[in-house]
Amino acid sequence: MQTGLRTMKELMQEKWYKRPLIISGPCSAETEEQMIETATRLAITGKVDILRAGIWKPRTKPGMFEGNGIVGLPWLAKAKQITGLPITVEVATAKHVADALKFGVDMLWIGARTTVNPFSVQEIADAVKGVDIPVLIKNPIHPDLELWSGGIERLQKVGVNQVGMIHRGFSSYGNTEYRNAPMWHLPIEMKRRFADMPLICDPSHICGNRSMLLSVSQKSIDLDFDGLMLESHIDPDNAWSDAKQQVTPERLLEMLNELIWRHESTTEQEFITALTTLREQINQVDDELMTLLGQRMKLSDKIGEYKKDNDITILQTNRWNEILERAFQKGEKLGLSKDFITKYFDAVHLESIQHQNKIMNS
Ligand code: PEP
Ligand code: MN
Repeated sequence: MQTGLRTMKELMQEKWYKRPLIISGPCSAETEEQMIETATRLAITGKVDILRAGIWKPRTKPGMFEGNGIVGLPWLAKAKQITGLPITVEVATAKHVADALKFGVDMLWIGARTTVNPFSVQEIADAVKGVDIPVLIKNPIHPDLELWSGGIERLQKVGVNQVGMIHRGFSSYGNTEYRNAPMWHLPIEMKRRFADMPLICDPSHICGNRSMLLSVSQKSIDLDFDGLMLESHIDPDNAWSDAKQQVTPERLLEMLNELIWRHESTTEQEFITALTTLREQINQVDDELMTLLGQRMKLSDKIGEYKKDNDITILQTNRWNEILERAFQKGEKLGLSKDFITKYFDAVHLESIQHQNKIMNS
């Protein structure tokens, strides 16, 4: 177990942050015993840098556990005293900031539901003005990078120079395998915008379950993230919030040991990072191509309706030759072979005909 209280400065080494930075602890501080036991078992792993716990929980619906509030702060302070682990909590108001500082909280984070509200972010920024404390800011719930950037700028403007980002995924319409879709191209873009700022991944809130935590963590490492925030609990199944996604401190250690940080060779790391980044961009372009193809077929459908109303055949050879000729010319300039263009347009044409056939016969 780690002994002695390390100051935040000692922990953060040459930069203001240590890499990889591992933050763990329960979704919520439930009881004093739970906090002390979690902290002790996390400290024993020797792999956790900062202890987290939710004191004020933003829940979607009333009636759910909304955190113990200020009574939980002395439990964290005690856990810190016993284990030597610095502590971090989520803050959403100036009062939260003041209370957290009173109890010696070492790092603050702004939650996804708060980042969406510029009034709240500004209130927090004003409350930490002049205080020497790191502040991490999670992405907003919806995929709006300007809002995330704006939050960072609000903190920087009041003089907070230890600002970090936490990627916790984005709410998306419909059911996906994730609780919050990672949309990796978005944190990648934030890395580009804020190149010197640490970017931490929060796989717990991305996954919403235990089974995908390891693969999402590894993916973030391969994308050159600077650390992880993973929720842990002494009895995950009976946690008062986010029970499905928490793991025991011992399982956390197993996971951390399984992850490949690829420290040995920087060139290899650079290679993997470059490759993963490019693949992410390819995924993004493919998604856009699919969307465009969908739009193209909708246009075909419309034409199909006109043809039906005017009793015109689906296939019109002249038009098709005209499309192909245009594509060959454009393709040549873009470095696309005639063979590929022919195959691609044949496939698109076939799909288009099938769409129009359906309309003609409906
Ligand atoms: C949390 O970290 O427990 C939390 C509430 O996360 P988020 O703001 O990402 O929903
Ligand atoms: Mn949580």
